Amino acid sequence: MIPEVVGSNPITHPIYVLFIVGKARLSTVFCAICYLIKSSYRLHLMQTFSQRVLAWFEKYGRKHLPWQQQATLYKTWVSEVMLQQTQVKTVIPYFNRFMRRFPDILTLANASQDDVLAHWAGLGYYSRARNLHKSAQIIRDQYHGLFPNNIEDVTALPGIGRSTAAAILALTLNQRHAILDGNVKRVLSRHQLIDGRPNRSATLKKQWAVAEKLTPQRACGQYTQAMMDLGSLICTRSKPKCRECPVYVDCGAYQSNCIDDYPNKQPKKTLPEKNTTMLIITDDQRIYLEKRPSKGIWGGLWSLPEVSGTTIACFLKRLGLSEDDRQPLDTYTHTFTHYKLHIQPLIIRVNHLNTGFRQTEVKQLGLPKPVQHLISNLHY
Ligand code: SF4
Repeated sequence: MIPEVVGSNPITHPIYVLFIVGKARLSTVFCAICYLIKSSYRLHLMQTFSQRVLAWFEKYGRKHLPWQQQATLYKTWVSEVMLQQTQVKTVIPYFNRFMRRFPDILTLANASQDDVLAHWAGLGYYSRARNLHKSAQIIRDQYHGLFPNNIEDVTALPGIGRSTAAAILALTLNQRHAILDGNVKRVLSRHQLIDGRPNRSATLKKQWAVAEKLTPQRACGQYTQAMMDLGSLICTRSKPKCRECPVYVDCGAYQSNCIDDYPNKQPKKTLPEKNTTMLIITDDQRIYLEKRPSKGIWGGLWSLPEVSGTTIACFLKRLGLSEDDRQPLDTYTHTFTHYKLHIQPLIIRVNHLNTGFRQTEVKQLGLPKPVQHLISNLHY
């Protein structure tokens, strides 16, 4: 209420001016107090971020995965590499099979690349298997067969980036390193409203800075697993379960109702398409397969020859084969991350194959998934 000042202009009267100035000061002080309370609450939430994540992990986190049982650097390494681009439930049977065949680093280092690829066949991204094998040989030759335990040496191994190295050492030895895999990127981008095109260096820099800041000094192994679990079980790509999330009170995206905007999307581009013809050459006893060059798509795997229509006759002639019968199968499409491949399979029956593999032998080879699919129903 404005004080009543009799006989003078109320707006210029000193009492009125004092009243207005006082009121303004009061509201400034009030705003400052609110700001302080708000920032110290925000700071408190940031400081307790890891505690809340750890408390959630204690109750709901995954603690019975095969690689978590009597964890070693070797088991964690293999699992982390398999889990790149692949879901836990897909990885489990592969991991178990891989461990039965290659129970330690030396067995893996001394195995043939064919053998390693055969145990990877179907998981995709085969450079991971080739790098795993190469790294095992480096560890055998340069580290007396013992997996290195410092971040610089681990990061220097083929196929191990900063986040994977950090995860291996944090999960197994409880060393303090921040991680930034796909799941963690999603949680942090939403929680901290981190803008920027995915995988651009400016965006990664911001995400790493937040990841470093939030990683606790203690219980780093559990925190690392907890963040991975939070990303894959709660803060999922679509329909995240925010009401079950331990950090929803201060999650920027949840509080501002813009979860779908984070992480920012990659602009959509149409995948290029390619066509190929794959020859399934068989004499009903064996099938003809070729080993692919070690670099490039399906590097080092056994595959069906890819030949265009006009050169099929020349190709068969070069192998010394004469064609008895030709039968096209339905086109099969395989989608890679960067293009779509339309495969026209063609069964070519020949009289006798000198080189080739029997069905039982094919099972021991590393074959790309589409090739496995194309020959799975074939009787030879
Ligand atoms: S509140 Fe929702 S969006 Fe935010 S971190 Fe949790 S699950 Fe993700």
